[in-house]
Amino acid sequence: MSKQDLILLALNPSPILDLMQRALYAAGYEVATAHDRPGLDKSVQQAIPALMIIGETFANQDGFAVSRELLERFPTLPIIFYADKDTTGFAKSVLKNGLSGYLYPPLQMADIVDEVQKSLSRARRLGDWLRREVRRTTSSLEEKANISETERVKLEAIISNIQDGVVVMDKNQHILLINQAVREIFTLGEADFTGKPLGDIITNADLRALLSRSSDSPLKYHEINFDDGRVFNAQYTPIPRIGAAVTMQDISYLKELDRLKSDFIHTVSHDLRSPLTAVLGYTELVERTGPLNQNQQEFLHRLQGSVQHITSLINDLLDLGRLEAGFDTRREVIQLEGVLKYTLDMFDSQIKKKLIELSVDLSPNLQPLRANPIRIRQMLDNLVGNAIKYTPNDGKIRVSIAMQEKQIVLRVQDTGPGIKPEEQGRVFEKFYRATNAPDGVTGSGLGLAIVKSIVDSHQGRVWVESTIGKGSTFVVLLPAQD
Ligand code: ADP
Repeated sequence: MSKQDLILLALNPSPILDLMQRALYAAGYEVATAHDRPGLDKSVQQAIPALMIIGETFANQDGFAVSRELLERFPTLPIIFYADKDTTGFAKSVLKNGLSGYLYPPLQMADIVDEVQKSLSRARRLGDWLRREVRRTTSSLEEKANISETERVKLEAIISNIQDGVVVMDKNQHILLINQAVREIFTLGEADFTGKPLGDIITNADLRALLSRSSDSPLKYHEINFDDGRVFNAQYTPIPRIGAAVTMQDISYLKELDRLKSDFIHTVSHDLRSPLTAVLGYTELVERTGPLNQNQQEFLHRLQGSVQHITSLINDLLDLGRLEAGFDTRREVIQLEGVLKYTLDMFDSQIKKKLIELSVDLSPNLQPLRANPIRIRQMLDNLVGNAIKYTPNDGKIRVSIAMQEKQIVLRVQDTGPGIKPEEQGRVFEKFYRATNAPDGVTGSGLGLAIVKSIVDSHQGRVWVESTIGKGSTFVVLLPAQD
């Protein structure tokens, strides 16, 4: 028993009230009496009694009803119920209403103190248990929080020391985490950039372009170029509920290898062209220097065909070299459909020969574009030429040009063999020939590489949509003139 324990009595004035006061005082408790309902509420709220004894009726209200209301607000308050008589069902009501004990006459002082002590010690045990539970739950939560904090620190250490550049941003592209590699790539020093917009901290134009384009539809790869020749491959990955991450790998050495390879191809092609021109010239002279028999004539024609084939391959290679080196700077305002007409005229006889059904669908209000007409013609020749080459006799080819916002969309659709999904991305690589090509269809694997270089140099995009056995559609997006 604690001397500070306050027992609140909610009983109407009566001899039993006096008896309780005396008994509890004598046992060393503090006692307070409530006279009406507002007084009772105030005492419970402010004086925080350790226990309350309530009468069957208090201030003209039912004692059980008042107890229920109080317990709803103060569920741990022990309440003893006093009734003038022990009627059947009385004990049951006490239990049902969640009270902790009951008293009824005849009462001795000791009975009162005894019941109060019992209820108090039960309440204390309950309180101890509650406190223990709360402590246990909080400490296990703390433990969990600690684990996640350690995990966080561990993860941060891994990301910080990783060789690739990593930046994690929130949904507004504000920095959440930036690793050491990124700091070194962009010479950012050691300042704390947390919460700052990434575009403000790193002003590189390629990175900004990546951020603005990828927030709508994430681009898989994007090159970040530096004036000193370094090149990084950047990837934008949306992270659900957090924002996005940009990772960067140094691909300067790969770029350098690619450049060396291109230089080599360019030099070799260039050096091969002159002797080939000589070979072709002499084969033509042979015919003029004397009569040839039929076999000699046929061999000579085959020789000329092969030399022409190699010459066109070399011309393609030189072309590609020039395009990749960025020499394509000629720009004129042209209409794509105007150039398409020349291409279709050129292929007219081939289309008729293969009995291909050609349809052309041009949207009204096609806008012009700023482009090199010769390159655009080359692009169309390659795409339409491939469609004819790979579509079997009696097949269908559909060429359409439409506007999509400020972009011109060209589609060249055929009913050819189609391209396997895993090869669709590779057909734009130099010398790549897919496994679908029907027997007897020859090629160098350079046509689409040239198409891609031309489209790239016009700030456009090209891709293929294809289903094996059904056909392919090559799609080119080119920005319309502003
Ligand atoms: P090629 O000289 O072999 O035609 P391209 O670079 O033009 O070279 O094309 C690369 C490869 O892509 C081709 O070898 C072929 O496998 C595939 N391809 C190109 N166009 C089509 C098409 N319209 N239908 C089916 N496959 C095609």
